[in-house]
Amino acid sequence: MKRFLAPALLLCLLSALPVTALGREATVASPGGNLVVTISDEGPQATYAVTLGGQPMVLPSALGFKADFGDFTQKLTITATKAVPVDKRYTMRQVKQSQFHYVATLLTVDFENARQQKMSMEFSVSDNDVAFRYLIPRQKNDNPKSAVILEETTAFSLPAGTTTFLTPQSKAMVGWERTKPSYEEDYRVDRPMTERSQFGEGYTFPCLFRVGGAGATGAAGTTGRSGSAGTTGASGTTGSSGTTGNSASSGTTGSAEGWVLISETGVSSQYCGSHLSDYKTVGASGAYQIAYPMAGENNGIGSATPGIALPGTTPWRTITMGTTLKPIVETTIQYDVVEPLYEPSLPYTYGRYTWSWLIWQDNSINYDDQVQFIDLASKMGFEFCLVDNWWDKNIGRERMAELSRYAQSKGVSLMLWYNSNGFENDAPQTPRQCMNSSMARDREMAWLQSIGVKGIKVDFFGGDKQETMKLYEDILYNANLYGLQCIFHGCTLPRGWERMYPNYVASEAVLASENVFFTEQHAKTQAFELTMHPFCRNASGTMDWGGIIMNKYLSKDNKGRHKRYTTDIFEMASGITNQTAVQCVAMQPNNLTENELPQFELDWLRAMPTTWDETQFIDGYPGRYVVLARRHGDDWYVAGLNALKEPLKLTLDLPMFTAGSQLKYYVDDRKSGQPVLTTLKVDKKGRAKVEIQPNGGIILQK
Ligand code: CA
Repeated sequence: MKRFLAPALLLCLLSALPVTALGREATVASPGGNLVVTISDEGPQATYAVTLGGQPMVLPSALGFKADFGDFTQKLTITATKAVPVDKRYTMRQVKQSQFHYVATLLTVDFENARQQKMSMEFSVSDNDVAFRYLIPRQKNDNPKSAVILEETTAFSLPAGTTTFLTPQSKAMVGWERTKPSYEEDYRVDRPMTERSQFGEGYTFPCLFRVGGAGATGAAGTTGRSGSAGTTGASGTTGSSGTTGNSASSGTTGSAEGWVLISETGVSSQYCGSHLSDYKTVGASGAYQIAYPMAGENNGIGSATPGIALPGTTPWRTITMGTTLKPIVETTIQYDVVEPLYEPSLPYTYGRYTWSWLIWQDNSINYDDQVQFIDLASKMGFEFCLVDNWWDKNIGRERMAELSRYAQSKGVSLMLWYNSNGFENDAPQTPRQCMNSSMARDREMAWLQSIGVKGIKVDFFGGDKQETMKLYEDILYNANLYGLQCIFHGCTLPRGWERMYPNYVASEAVLASENVFFTEQHAKTQAFELTMHPFCRNASGTMDWGGIIMNKYLSKDNKGRHKRYTTDIFEMASGITNQTAVQCVAMQPNNLTENELPQFELDWLRAMPTTWDETQFIDGYPGRYVVLARRHGDDWYVAGLNALKEPLKLTLDLPMFTAGSQLKYYVDDRKSGQPVLTTLKVDKKGRAKVEIQPNGGIILQK
């Protein structure tokens, strides 16, 4: 075996290598040296493998694709490699941090197939992330100049004993008004890799894995949805002993342990969105494979396979790895390897919005009710009010202009709801047919701009086909020309879009707050959901959960229907743990008039930031609890949520605060269950002891 070593920061160019019967290997280390990727052409398929600190995190996994002009799934030969250092700085305002410094080694590996057709791969390797993609050139005689990628053999093989934290891909054209997939399915946690996905269609990105999970004590005591089922294992271990950091280190010895988050980024109109297949036997071991959209998506219209102009590239597939959950929560790889596709037409503003629809539902889409929610936003100092579906019928366009003027007179900007369809589903809500063609968008957006509307929420998309990716892009691009920010619902997850499209705000792509309203079961599992997403869905992209809920009951009169199971402090803390730069505060007008909220809660919500300069993971376990810190300017906010059945005692390392300093401590009182604002002292070692109640939360700030 011949080894091509491409060490960090050393340019290494190898070309015109003799083809031998022996396999070849290219190895690239991250700048810090801890993460190593090995690419090999030995055996029937080319493979890559990843180690972290010498421990295998991704086992040799197949590479390759089949294009209409050539087969790159087997008999690939490495012909050359080249490594260059990457050192890149950029800024963003609307994600988990504001200043970015990406340091990586970029390894290019050239391959040739049995017919001497060429393709290359890029591996961008940083200390906790690997991003890789295929580069497809034109072949002989400068042809073909375009290609259809029929399938990818790109696989992800994880060590035996890895457990999974996954949400299934839905079948197409099912569910309410045939709107699925809408990326609103349940997560299952701590499951074996061999478990079949719920619908047999694999898993939606991002996909979280715990390497060494099956042997650890925490996982052994858990079944299914641990948040609602109650996990005595985790709270017993982490809670009572008061340890910090995550509990992954307990239980197993000898083999690799850690966390792996797999996703993709850089998906624009130039490719389809992908997901992971079910776990399947590939070669000698099991693996997940890149899967393309289902043919039935979009009512069967449009190709399930992507087409690209040549030379061209596939999107980046990303693998984030850590021995703890810290690199998972803090990863920025989805932004590091992509670039803005256009400039913002104006400096967009971020903030909070009120939303009548969550609890008052369709009946609230009338002029007078919307005035109440505008007034609520105004009294709270919030920037926006979102008017949901049917406004065109129930209020009408002329009165919407009047409503927008009224809102502006109160210092509030409106955002309006739209249906994305189109032919892709049966969702009946209007306005329809305003976002699915450039003619309609131009007309509509010019009108929105003329009446002072600042954003749109577009709902009910049809899946991940390339033409749907083009629809997202077209909406975003057109909206930017009219100074409109975009929130998507009933939609796929973003794939680097915050950086690629500067007026993109957030996507739902989560079993969101509307389900807390719809069913008591989802109200009961809300804490499970919101302690899952910081490690997975929201780690990869901004998430519009749709509301900090302050009503005691999920009803307009705040007495009927089912209750909210989470505490007030939980809801407030979720405004920190859930990351989106335009955050819904689903307060209701009665939250002010009934005088039911303590003044300190109202004061806190009035001052809640939605943009962050830094994010730090402090403690947690997916689906059980989370504590993280975010910095806005000079101010740190530490927020914690507990989905366990028992109170959770933690000793937190808080290096962001001066040792010995006194903090504001928002917490649910253990005895009374009431929310309180008290104080907590950081000890001399920079630590503080906290206790988070079941379905409760904490916030610490200076
Ligand atoms: Ca939805």
